[in-house]
Amino acid sequence: MRHLLDLSFEEIEAELASWGEPRYRAKQITEWVFRHGATDFEVMTNLPPALRARLAEAFTIAAPEVLAERHADDGATTKALLDLGNGDAVETVRMDYDPDEDGAPDRVTVCISTQVGCAMACRFCATGLQGFTRNLSASEIVTQVLYFSRPSRGEREDTSHAQPDLRASRDRVTNIVFMGMGEPLANYNGTIAAIRWLTRPEGLGLRQRGITVSTVGLVRGIDRLSQEGLQIGLTISLHAPDDELRRNLIPTAGGTTIEELVNAARLYIERCGRRVTFAYALLDHVNDEPEQARALARRIRGIQAHVNLIPYNPTAGPDLRRPSLARVRAFQRELQAAGANATVRIERGVEIAAACGQLRTDVQRATIAEAIPLTVQP
Ligand code: SAH
Repeated sequence: MRHLLDLSFEEIEAELASWGEPRYRAKQITEWVFRHGATDFEVMTNLPPALRARLAEAFTIAAPEVLAERHADDGATTKALLDLGNGDAVETVRMDYDPDEDGAPDRVTVCISTQVGCAMACRFCATGLQGFTRNLSASEIVTQVLYFSRPSRGEREDTSHAQPDLRASRDRVTNIVFMGMGEPLANYNGTIAAIRWLTRPEGLGLRQRGITVSTVGLVRGIDRLSQEGLQIGLTISLHAPDDELRRNLIPTAGGTTIEELVNAARLYIERCGRRVTFAYALLDHVNDEPEQARALARRIRGIQAHVNLIPYNPTAGPDLRRPSLARVRAFQRELQAAGANATVRIERGVEIAAACGQLRTDVQRATIAEAIPLTVQP
C-alpha cells in the first residue's frame, strides 16, 4: 500500500479535494503525523470516521518496524535498525548533545540513510563494500526521523493520556545529517522530497540550516541541489588532495576531478549562501602526510570552505588503518597553517558500530535477528 508521505503536501491536498473533502483536511492529517507522531488514521479523532476508513483503505502512515535498538555514550547515542520489508533494513542514529542540568539536550542530530546499500564503493566504507540494493522512498527517509522524534521510552508513560507534541518535546530533533547508508544525490528525488517534508511547516518544520546533505561528489546533483532554493548545508567527501589517489579510494569517482568539485562548491556557496564542508577520512600513511595537507589547502584556497577530518573508523575489510592522534593533529595543524579551516570530527557510538560507514555491517554478517542484541526498554 502507498505510504501517505510518498505524496507531497500538495498532492495530499489534491487527493482529498478529489474525494470532495474540504481543503483543511490535509493540514489536520499532517498535523497528526508530524506533531503527534500518529502511525494510524484511527487516532485522528477530528476526522469523520468515514474519512478515516477511506484513508486507511488508500494509504498507510505506519512507522517502520524496529528490529533492534542499541545505546552508547551513556544513552546520548542511539542506533536503530529499521525494517523496510523483504529483508531490507537501514540504520538510523540519534545523537544528543550538550544536555542541560535536567538532561535535556541542547541539540539532537539524527543521521539518516537514503539507500539500502550504496553503489559508490568507497574502499574504506562498510556500506560501500556491500553493494547497492535500492533507493529509499521519501516516506522511508522521513520515517527514520519520525522514529527518533517520538517521545522517548521513559517519557511515554507521562504522555499516555495526552497527545505528545513532537515539536515541543524537550528532546526534539533539531538537526539532520544525510550521512547514513547510501549516496543521497544518487537518490535525488527521494532526498529532496524528504527534505521538503522535514522542513516545511506542514511537515516537521525543521530549520533548513539544521540539515546537511553529504555527497560523494556527484557534480550534476550538487548543481541541481544548489538551485532548489534551499538553505541546507552541503558536505562534499573529498578524501584526497589529488585525482589519482581520490580515484583509488573512490573507484566510481571516474571522470570527476577535484577541480570540478571545488568549482561546484563555489557555485553552491554563491547560490545558497551556505558554507561548504569538505569531508576527509584520514587513512594512515595513505592520505595523511603533511604535504598532502598542504596540497589540499592549496586546492580549496579562496573559497568559503571548511575541512572536516574524520579519522578512519576501521571497518571489516581492506588493509587500511586509522592514523595516530598525533598524525591527525599534525594534519590539522598543517591545514590551518596553510590557511584552511579544519576540525576533527568527534566520534560517537563507536562501541555500537554506529560510526561512519559501519552501518548495517553487523547485520550483513549475521541474520538481522541475531546481529544486534535488543535493548529492553524500561
Ligand atoms: N554517500 C555520502 C554519505 C556517506 S557517509 C558521502 O559519500 O558523503 C558520510 C561520510 O562518512 C562520508 O564522508 C564518508 O566518506 C565517510 N566515511 C565512510 N566510511 C568511513 C569510515 N570507515 N571512516 C571514516 N569515514 C568514513
